[in-house]
Amino acid sequence: MPPPVFRFAPSPNGHLHLGHAYSALLNFDRARETGGRLLLRIEDIDATRCRPEFETAIDEDLAWLGIAWETPVRRQSEHLADYRAALEKLTARGLVYPAFESRAEIARLVAAREADGPWPRDPDSAPLYPGDAKALAAGERSRLIGAGAPYALRLDMTAACQRVAGLTWNELGEGPDGERGTVAARPEAWGDVILARKETPTSYHLSVVVDDALQGVSEIVRGQDLFHATSVHRLLQALLGLPEPAYRHHPLIRDADGRKLSKSDRSTGLRELRAAGVTRAGIRGLVGLGQVSLGVSKTPP
Ligand code: GLU
Repeated sequence: MPPPVFRFAPSPNGHLHLGHAYSALLNFDRARETGGRLLLRIEDIDATRCRPEFETAIDEDLAWLGIAWETPVRRQSEHLADYRAALEKLTARGLVYPAFESRAEIARLVAAREADGPWPRDPDSAPLYPGDAKALAAGERSRLIGAGAPYALRLDMTAACQRVAGLTWNELGEGPDGERGTVAARPEAWGDVILARKETPTSYHLSVVVDDALQGVSEIVRGQDLFHATSVHRLLQALLGLPEPAYRHHPLIRDADGRKLSKSDRSTGLRELRAAGVTRAGIRGLVGLGQVSLGVSKTPP
């Protein structure tokens, strides 16, 4: 049996906070416990928000925490051809269509539907895309693309779910409602998700699935905020013929008011805590990991 493969996959769009430390340390501890490998993946496809200095800061903060990872690090922005190839596979299967509406136009389409009663929302509480662009004639699509109109490439969820039914995943951790063990995937709850945009041949969902497969990740340890997204990931894995990893979702670290931590809140930032004299052992204590048997507390901060 090859050793299990874990990954920590931050986006370099800000500094890491205690929640990231918890996720990264859980991955590191799991890799140590199982004799597995730990990879670092930089999820930097959003060129407008990601910056190289944040990636440098991620490296520094993880090293300070005592975490070691394999190199080379996979940087998503350097692998767009891999995502494009996956997108082409889905397109060839007739599962992708361009949608030209702006955010404001989508909001108007949803509001018009809501006049007739409640309109479904996805697990993150955003209204589902109403699917209007699916009805555009091929000629009209080509005309708009030729005219340089911006567009998003969306997954035809109904068609995709007809190809693969009965998907599940193995949850080694716990979902927000205590889900564990064999969990039934419900990708249809997300509607026609965006897989790519005119200027970017990928999206979070597509690149995470392609990368986890290309990197041979066998156990995905990440926050419960991504638990429901796993349904979309399982669907894409099945459509693309990719292997199925196990998932271990962990609870989120929350602030005193019970809110998810944010990269902009300095009181829980790792750099700020370090500057305030908190040690790496202190960070483990703050996220409830104790000293475990890794000898981390013996290493000077
Ligand atoms: N890049 C994502 C984030 O920073 C995590 C992706 C994942 O673990 O699947 O929230």
